Amino acid sequence: MSKPLLGIFGGTFDPVHQGHLGAVTQIAEKIEFDSILWVVSAKPPHKDQVRAAAQDRLNMLELALEPYSNWQASDIEIQRHAPSYSFDTLTALRERYPDHQLVMLIGGDSLETLPSWYRYPELLDLAHWVVMHRPSYSLKVPERLKPRLVDHVLDLVKAQPDDQIESKLWIHENSDFKVSSTQLRQALSVNEETKATKQLITEQLPKAVLNYIQQQQLYKIGSMLPEKVKNEVVEALEDIKGHDISVLDIAEVSGFADYMVVVSGTSDTHVRAMAREASDRLRKQGVKPLNEDGADLGEWVLVDFGDVVLHVMRPEVRSYYDLETLWDADARAKIEQAREQTGDDASGGASTSTQAD
Ligand code: ATP
Repeated sequence: MSKPLLGIFGGTFDPVHQGHLGAVTQIAEKIEFDSILWVVSAKPPHKDQVRAAAQDRLNMLELALEPYSNWQASDIEIQRHAPSYSFDTLTALRERYPDHQLVMLIGGDSLETLPSWYRYPELLDLAHWVVMHRPSYSLKVPERLKPRLVDHVLDLVKAQPDDQIESKLWIHENSDFKVSSTQLRQALSVNEETKATKQLITEQLPKAVLNYIQQQQLYKIGSMLPEKVKNEVVEALEDIKGHDISVLDIAEVSGFADYMVVVSGTSDTHVRAMAREASDRLRKQGVKPLNEDGADLGEWVLVDFGDVVLHVMRPEVRSYYDLETLWDADARAKIEQAREQTGDDASGGASTSTQAD
């Protein structure tokens, strides 16, 4: 008996749009999925644009998927709190759904770079692959992938590989949705809407998503970039006499934030006061912390501003956990070195299916 099919569609979804929904709807009309998981990647790699935090992207996705009974948003990559690769996600999902056959959905813009994704070619055999054409991108099939191509979607579904059989790749060439999240972020960032931007936004964003964006004031120019948030946090800590402030640029290795700020406090009261000072200062400027943890004990308070994570710690806790060594430049260099040794492209495959982003 054939296994039920689990579709996996990964992306930054910053924000999710009708191109995503339309393209996947077309595939779901051709392949009978048991369910489709929409996997939100932890951290978009760009720092130069105003983007939404992972939790907001997940919330928007949940709103967009509400009408679809067997589509679900997944936070598996956000929860990982480490660099996140399609390989890791597919491996984890195979363990979690041992009775399912996985089918990975990707946009045509990702196809050309697939052979450079982390842990290629092992990655390939973790799932079947469906590629959805995107109008402004040419569909170039890498030579290495050509033997995997099947002409008809049914050939893909029929070939239910156990671990010995190669997975297959099918291209849906009739997918014809031009919209991208980049276009929408640009349209949403302008303060004066034109007729064209208004039309784009209302046509290409699900209504509930647009409402959420407006309520949360996402993507507006004037929202704070990560570097500025980091500077404000450091200033707040200095104002309240934080000890040994250290700032780590973890954008390339963390998958969830751009900066980590660590500081020591002399007492539980001092620790709590610094965390409060930093959140109050940012709140006044329109940046609300996504999460605050540990204030009750005052040993280690974590304040998550999305792109910047602040750890306020008692010195003994700080030296015990030694976050700085874990995340510092040396650690980063070692990770990069390890990747080079395994021949993997450090950028390839990071964050499910959006590595080409
Ligand atoms: P951005 O403009 O920020 O790069 P995006 O619109 O490409 O974003 P992502 O969240 O990066 O959206 O995309 C997730 C997945 O959806 C990727 O595999 C991407 O190729 C695919 N995709 C995005 N837009 C479309 C579309 N219009 N048609 C088909 N696939 C799409």
